[in-house]
Amino acid sequence: MSLVVQKYGGSSVADAEGIKRVAKRIVDAKKNGHQVVVVVSAMGDTTDELIDLAGQVSPIPAGREFDMLLTAGERISMALLAMAIKNLGHAAQSFTGSQAGVITDSVHNKARIIDVTPGRIRNSIDEGNIAIVAGFQGVSQEGKNITTLGRGGSDTTAVALAAALDAEVCEIYTDVDGVFTADPRVVKKARKIDWISFEDMLELASSGSKVLLHRCVEYARRYNIPIHVRSSFSGLQGTWVSNEPQGDRKVEQAIISGVAHDTSEAKITVVGVPDKPGEAASIFRAIADSGVNIDMIVQNVSAASTGLTDISFTLPKTEGRKAIDALEKTRADIGFDSLRYDDQIAKISLVGAGMKTNPGVTAAFFEALSDAGVNIELISTSEIRISVVTRADDANESVRAVHTAFGLDSDTDEAVVYGGTGR
Ligand code: ADP
Ligand code: ASP
Ligand code: MG
Repeated sequence: MSLVVQKYGGSSVADAEGIKRVAKRIVDAKKNGHQVVVVVSAMGDTTDELIDLAGQVSPIPAGREFDMLLTAGERISMALLAMAIKNLGHAAQSFTGSQAGVITDSVHNKARIIDVTPGRIRNSIDEGNIAIVAGFQGVSQEGKNITTLGRGGSDTTAVALAAALDAEVCEIYTDVDGVFTADPRVVKKARKIDWISFEDMLELASSGSKVLLHRCVEYARRYNIPIHVRSSFSGLQGTWVSNEPQGDRKVEQAIISGVAHDTSEAKITVVGVPDKPGEAASIFRAIADSGVNIDMIVQNVSAASTGLTDISFTLPKTEGRKAIDALEKTRADIGFDSLRYDDQIAKISLVGAGMKTNPGVTAAFFEALSDAGVNIELISTSEIRISVVTRADDANESVRAVHTAFGLDSDTDEAVVYGGTGR
């Protein structure tokens, strides 16, 4: 009997009706002869609401108690879903991440999974149950504290369980019909992608296409678990993410896979840095030691007259305060003039493996932005991606302009968004 792991995101279980609808789908998979393990997110915007609530009792909620609070969201949906399935006459049992054997490191709020020991889940499905697992959470190996995996982390729970249970496929059910060539909330003419390689999906995910979390794609690539991203609101085939196209469907790798945008980052500029060896090292050491991950970096040429230069970099807005504090502390040692913080930025990225072999992609990308009157502030590239930073207000216009310029607009269907608030 084959085993499938299905993950349902918050928008798919936003209310009682949603939970009942999802329960039916799960029961159908079971009736079709599969063993079914389900990973479920918190209902609708519950996680955001819990974060807001924590902010009302403490200025910067973080750490152990914050994780304890956030995991409550997924515990609500797992229990309700198990009840709804039982109501349809099928056996189901719900499990917290800890009970399901999701073992993590001790980094609260963005823990990494280090092991999965799914003995209880295996027993439960072997006894004929549908197992429902709370996503986005685990228990730390040292200290045995409850941890969360970072926003969107239920995707990672699902793939990690699929790998540990040797599942045939990991199905990610969401509020759109699959992975599109751009966010369907921004580009109505975005096209659904039938198949995309792990490599391109990884770049899209890390560039802001939140339909899949990049850690989940990384995990799937490492263990070679095919992912099927599809809607829980329709019966349509979605997008396969894998090493090779699935089954007999011969799908060619597109030159350009899609356009991603991300408005969750901020930009810090360190102004007036002496242009001598060791300065960049000191700046980024201070940032790294504060536990902040950075993304793009640009250093200007120093003005000959002053010998001073500016260094700009981007980072998650949520880490802005920490980074500024860390830099301020080392200001005397490093000897820069001032710091500028700007959180009104957007990152626009074009992704596609075909970039490696097709000259002119970069030029066409910049031309599209220039035709749309968009100013570029930072640029970074990888082998299969070009990213620029623009004003946040220009984000949607930029994505649409680039999408059209690369011939990605669909001339038939409009992309459907079935639910969610886009929060
Ligand atoms: P879930 O609650 O199911 O985890 P998310 O909100 O995390 O759902 O992810 C689904 C959303 O991702 C979609 O509603 C869509 O707005 C957004 N999205 C961004 N980029 C893309 C893309 N390239 N293709 C599909 N959806 C995308
Ligand atoms: N509920 C968590 C969040 O909103 C995890 C998830 O949905 O994947 O980030
Ligand atoms: Mg998600």
